[in-house]
Amino acid sequence: MDLTLTPAQLDLQARARAYVVDHLQPIEQEFERAAGRLPTAARDELKRAAIEAGLHGGSFPPELGGQGWSVLEQVIVHEQLGQATGGLWSFIPGAYNALIHADPDQRRRYLEPSMRGERFGSYAITEPNAGSDARTLKATARRDPATGEYILNGEKWFVTGPPDETDFMIFHCLVPGADDSDSQPLPTLFLVDYDTPGLTMKHDPDYTHTFADRHPQFVLADVRVPSSAILGGLGRADEVTNEWFVEERIHIGARCAGAMERLLTLAVEWATDRRQFGQRIYDFQGVSFPLADSAADAAAARLLTREAAALADAGVDPKVVHAKASLAKLFASEAAWRCADRVVQVFGGRGYMREYPAERYLRELRVDRIWEGTSEIQRMIVARALEKRGVGRVVG
Ligand SMILES: Cc1cc2nc3c(=O)[nH]c(=O)nc-3n(C[C@H](O)[C@H](O)[C@H](O)COP(=O)(O)OP(=O)(O)OC[C@H]3O[C@@H](n4cnc5c(N)ncnc54)[C@H](O)[C@@H]3O)c2cc1C
Repeated sequence: MDLTLTPAQLDLQARARAYVVDHLQPIEQEFERAAGRLPTAARDELKRAAIEAGLHGGSFPPELGGQGWSVLEQVIVHEQLGQATGGLWSFIPGAYNALIHADPDQRRRYLEPSMRGERFGSYAITEPNAGSDARTLKATARRDPATGEYILNGEKWFVTGPPDETDFMIFHCLVPGADDSDSQPLPTLFLVDYDTPGLTMKHDPDYTHTFADRHPQFVLADVRVPSSAILGGLGRADEVTNEWFVEERIHIGARCAGAMERLLTLAVEWATDRRQFGQRIYDFQGVSFPLADSAADAAAARLLTREAAALADAGVDPKVVHAKASLAKLFASEAAWRCADRVVQVFGGRGYMREYPAERYLRELRVDRIWEGTSEIQRMIVARALEKRGVGRVVG
């Protein structure tokens, strides 16, 4: 497999890097000190600059307002985004890939304004009693035969999106079968505006990281939406959500690889300059060897992630791509966590100061081992694939 970047891909990489270095990294500290809040003008500036750099709506085709990037191109960009702390890339206008299934009216109402940075969506799957095992979701949408509307009920946790910006959710729920039959409930997605009566934010907890996104809990109590709010068709939620998991697991792998590159760059700069006991601390193997191990981690994470992306682009069996995406996310997120811990140690007391990126990464990279499926769930997917697809197709 040839993973050499084309001149156009190198240009994309340079544009993404310039955006991160010129717009995101300079505001990281101020953002941390402000507990993750940015004034409207600063948010608008991040959106404007992203659109000017052609970084918005990456995976969506140009006719829908996006950039038409291949999965590998998405990875090239996310490797750069991972070099900023605070999850500040969340302000780049775009949309969950589920909106590729939007009908013309949904495109006009949700997708097109998202591409312009006027609307932001969230994706609500997890519930208080259904996390890793999404088969046990309880949220429902019952059709009212009198009006044809759907009545949504349920409680959703960790509903991620930038505060003051996010104004609609993709609600993953079950449409019960007809009462008089044995038909199975149909997993279905609905587009729900946050200002729809019956939808309330119940709690907005703080988390380990200081991020551009908040992750509140919502309750939907008899929320009425028209049948035109169904996204992607009745009964298609599992399939569409799975497309999101695979894409986002690859993006996480890429951001973790990027985070490791930045951590290593900072650590080498510091350790080759810092002197103790009359010499550079880099000359102590206790300092340089953990960095060498981290370099091996970073390079392997990048390769695994780019490989998963290239296989997706080549149209390889989606089940193999699914396993490869899990492998990349599992390895890259575990490796990035190890790398952040080592780099904090190399920085000594400074590594524990929030002003230093290493400290922020240590808190921020932890969640990559949890969201979009925990490391244990990725191991389950990989282990099943080893048996069902064959070892050669998973590791080959
Ligand atoms: C900051 C943040 C943002 C999030 N954003 C979103 C979002 O936008 N939308 C959304 O829908 N969800 C979101 N999530 C939810 C996230 O996807 C879940 O937290 C995650 O899937 C784990 O589910 P859980 O928290 O219910 O843990 P549980 O499923 O209860 O798992 C608890 C522990 O048991 C382990 N475990 C469970 N089953 C097995 C098994 N079969 N074998 C071995 N170990 C197992 C898990 O790995 C974990 O260690 C977010 C979570 C966080 C922390």
